[in-house]
Amino acid sequence: MAKIIDGKVVSSKIRQDLKEEVCKLKEKSISVTLAVIIVGNDPASRTYVNNKKKACSEIGIISEEYAFDENVKETELLNLIYNLNRRNDVTGILVQLPLPKHLSEKKIIESIDPKKDVDAFSEINVGKIMIGNYNFLPCTPAGIMELLTFEEIDVSGKHCVVVGRSNIVGKPMAMLMLHKNATVTICHSKTKNLKDICKTADIIVSAVGKEKFITKDMVSPGTIVIDVGMNRDKNGKLCGDVDFENVEPIASYITPVPGGVGPMTIAMLMKNTVNASTLQQ
Ligand code: NDP
Repeated sequence: MAKIIDGKVVSSKIRQDLKEEVCKLKEKSISVTLAVIIVGNDPASRTYVNNKKKACSEIGIISEEYAFDENVKETELLNLIYNLNRRNDVTGILVQLPLPKHLSEKKIIESIDPKKDVDAFSEINVGKIMIGNYNFLPCTPAGIMELLTFEEIDVSGKHCVVVGRSNIVGKPMAMLMLHKNATVTICHSKTKNLKDICKTADIIVSAVGKEKFITKDMVSPGTIVIDVGMNRDKNGKLCGDVDFENVEPIASYITPVPGGVGPMTIAMLMKNTVNASTLQQ
């Protein structure tokens, strides 16, 4: 039986610490404001934005929402970001992805002042993560590192297998583990012998986006299993990438979905927003 890593407990502690930090900043007349830009009516994006706004309000961060119709012109978004960049009272800016096809995500993300890019998606911030000299950590991978730290799991010398190589999860995850002296293997859809590679892992991080993708026969006894996936099963219920029911009995630690990595992503976004305020002082 694996120990369940409870992201709700760890994220709640981080949010509590941040609340105190925001209070102290307020005593110095410094307010923290996150501007959130959302385009279109995608229900998942709406849920994510609402969750982020709720977390802001719990911590004492002011959130400003800028919602646009899905036909919005790129110049309108770029103008808004230009103005938000110039406003001293706006600490962080985030654009909820994905954007409609006619908008260039790259151009829009790159228009955010790197000191306000609290998702750490811009090229400058990604480059800083590569070098290990960062202002902001990418939220989901940073949240996973916090979970491992909380459980006193040292990745140094361990073989960490990251399945998925997206710019927002897989690649930065591998980089953060590498910075902590793990031996990292990154796997993707063209990887041969995925099962054999996973079987050699001390830690598996799955960020694929497919239900029951990590099965029992891919996991050696005692492996630490981190499930980033957020999928819907045939009944519309939220589930991860891992066949939890069958993997949990052989893993040493495992994150559930929901209640594992998800709450940490938002907590780390809040942390980046508070840190952005310090960075801009
Ligand atoms: P992407 O779709 O951008 O990336 C998926 C990755 O999985 C790709 O690198 C792809 O490989 C790889 N992949 C797909 N099929 C296979 C396969 N058969 N074998 C091995 N690798 C495969 O997704 P994201 O990284 O954005 O997200 C991954 C999951 O994590 C999603 O479910 C998403 O909802 C969730 N997520 C959860 C968050 C949280 O807070 N919990 C935050 C962000 C994401 P290739 O590159 O070759 O195509």
